Amino acid sequence: MKSFDALLEESVAKHGHLCAGQIIGVRMAMLGCRLVGIDDPKAPEFRKKLIVYVEIDRCATDAIESVTGCRMGKRTLKFKDFGINAATFVNLDTMEAYRVVSTEKSRMLAAHYAPGETDPRKQQMTGYAKMPDSALFDVARVNVDLPKTDMPGPPRKHVECASCGQMVRDGKEAFAHGQTLCRPCAGAGYFQTIDHLQPDNDFSLAN
Ligand SMILES: [Zn+2]
Ligand SMILES: [Zn+2]
Repeated sequence: MKSFDALLEESVAKHGHLCAGQIIGVRMAMLGCRLVGIDDPKAPEFRKKLIVYVEIDRCATDAIESVTGCRMGKRTLKFKDFGINAATFVNLDTMEAYRVVSTEKSRMLAAHYAPGETDPRKQQMTGYAKMPDSALFDVARVNVDLPKTDMPGPPRKHVECASCGQMVRDGKEAFAHGQTLCRPCAGAGYFQTIDHLQPDNDFSLAN
């Protein structure tokens, strides 16, 4: 594994700015990889051995992605929308998994680890960079129920929605009114359709 400074530099370049989230995310990813016995997640021998679940769509997630190389497009990065600054690292060979949570107390402790720093933002970043893992994180050994349909590789299941005909992959279909449906048709969508555009007329509006 590269040094903290080298990994931070890479993640800041990808993320666009240096922030407390980059520092916490890089450290969280380094600790998570170490705990599951993956020294360098981007090395050929460790590729596709690591799955990371992130629980928030904020700055630290970009750092975790940068350090681990795990990506949603490779199905190695999973997003659970919990609003918690935490990530779970799963070694696919051993199924060993650890959930690493950013502690609330670390915010209070930052000043202690950054004496002489008066700017609150810098104090926070310096503190997060210097405090020990045990102050910055709570760690639990966990069991992750990882269905085969969530694993990397080609889709293991294709099902057609009985209402709209859309193909649903990877076991993400829903069941309602005695039918197999896509989630939007089952009433579990995140949007309300206003109307459907007509290909011949309305699509030209977009140009
Ligand atoms: Zn940021
Ligand atoms: Zn449908």
